[in-house]
Order: sequence, then structure tokens, then C-alpha cells
Amino acid sequence: MMASHVCPICRWLNGTDHLAGGILTETDHFYVFHRQLVPAPVIGWLIIAPKEHLITQTEIPETWQEELTRLQFRLTQLLEKTTRPERVYWVLFSEEVRHIHFHLIPRQESMPEEKRGPAIFSWKPEDGAGRLEIEGFCDFFRQQAKSAGL
Ligand SMILES: [Zn+2]
Repeated sequence: MMASHVCPICRWLNGTDHLAGGILTETDHFYVFHRQLVPAPVIGWLIIAPKEHLITQTEIPETWQEELTRLQFRLTQLLEKTTRPERVYWVLFSEEVRHIHFHLIPRQESMPEEKRGPAIFSWKPEDGAGRLEIEGFCDFFRQQAKSAGL
């Protein structure tokens, strides 16, 4: 089990480490931020994580489930509007980082077929987005989320 002081998600969320793009939106129990991989293979690749260091899906109380589902739905709507993806992936692994987190990935039509589905996790395109581009998207998305009442 990874203790919270060495957990990268906790370190981003509590300000110990710099979180590129910052918090995009939050609910009572969850934060949303951009995936921190730079260069980014996909602009708009979002992470939803509980504010607490929970490590299994069943540690998320049942009373939070509706909040999580609604957040996922609203973010998917917003990704569809802002990034025009062909599909939006909703993925849970939490293998490398145990702090439970959900990936919301706008998969564009232009993405190579062999990198679709789970293979998108090993996709490292040479023209991936740099930190400035990620931060620019995050500023835009945060504004959009605010306008949408998220
Ligand atoms: Zn954590």
C-alpha cells in the first residue's frame, strides 16, 4: 500500500508537487485535473480522483456514487463539446498509482487505430502536447466547466 505522503495524486492535490493545469473542477468528494504526463498524447485526458487517499473502488462510500456518476456524465458532455472526440473512454486501472482514479479520455478520430482502446496508455506520439498547451487547455476547460455550472 502506498502511503499518502509518497502518493503522487495526494502530493498534487495537497500542493506538495506542482499540478500542471491545476484543479479543473471539484465536487464535495472528488477533484478533476488533467493527466500529468508530458508531452501529453491526448489533450483533454482528464483524471477524476477522490480527495481522500482511497485505494479501492469499494472504499468510495455508496453515498458518493451518485456524485461520481453525475460528475463523469457532466465532464463527458463538456469533453464532447470542447474537444469533439469520436469516443470518450472511461477507465479504471489504478495499477501504477494506487490512489483510486478514473480516466476520462477523449479519443479523436485522428488517433491511430493500433493505439485505440487500452493501447492508448502506451501511446507516446512525437508531437504530444507540451506543458504550455496543457495549461492553455486547462484554463479554457475550467472556464467552460464554470459556465456549465460544474
Ligand atoms: Zn493518494
